[in-house]
Amino acid sequence: MQATVNQTIIELVRGDITEEETDAIVNAANSRLAGGAGVDGAIHRAGGPAIMAECRKIGGCPTGEAVITTGGRLKARYVIHTVGPVYRGGGHGEARLLSSAYASSLKLAKRRGLHSIAFPAISCGVYGYPINEAARIALSACLDFAGENTEIQLIRHVLFDQNTCDIFAVELRKLL
Ligand code: ADP
Repeated sequence: MQATVNQTIIELVRGDITEEETDAIVNAANSRLAGGAGVDGAIHRAGGPAIMAECRKIGGCPTGEAVITTGGRLKARYVIHTVGPVYRGGGHGEARLLSSAYASSLKLAKRRGLHSIAFPAISCGVYGYPINEAARIALSACLDFAGENTEIQLIRHVLFDQNTCDIFAVELRKLL
C-alpha cells in the first residue's frame, strides 16, 4: 500500500528491513545500543561489525531519540538507531516516546541530507506495544513530518509479518 502526502511517498511493505536499499534503515535499538534480539540482531548480523564499533563510540541513546551510524555491509548507507518505549500499559508516556522515536529518526535523516528511509515496527516485538496503537502513532508521526517537510521523498514501513502489515494498512487508511 502506498500514499503520497505533500511530496513524500509513504509505503507499507512486508519484508526484511536488512535487504532495503533506502538511504537509511532504522533500527529498533535499546538505550545502551548494545545489540539484541529481533530486528536489532538481524541488522548487526547483516551489516557486520562496523555498525557495533560506531555504536560503542556513541555509547547510548535515550528513549525517543535517535543516532546514526554507517550501514556497514548493508545496501543502506546508514543505520539510524532509535529507541522505542517498553509498553507498560500506556500510562507511562509510551505514545509520546514512540512518536518521538519516529520524529527524531526523520529529523536526523533530513539533517544528513537523506531522501529515503525504512522503518521497522518499533516497539512492536519484545517491547510489547499493541500493534494497532503503535501503527497509528507511527503513521501519524510520519504523516505529520511529510506534511511539514519535503526533503524525504520516501518513507517505507517494512513489516516483518502479514498481521503487522495488515494492521498498518488499516490504520493508514483511517488516517488518510
Ligand atoms: P522492539 O524491542 O522495539 O519491540 P523487536 O526487534 O523485538 O523490537 O521488534 C520490532 C518489530 O520488528 C517486530 O514487529 C518484529 O517482528 C520486527 N522484525 C524482526 N526482525 C525484522 C526484520 N529483519 N525486518 C523487519 N522487521 C523485523
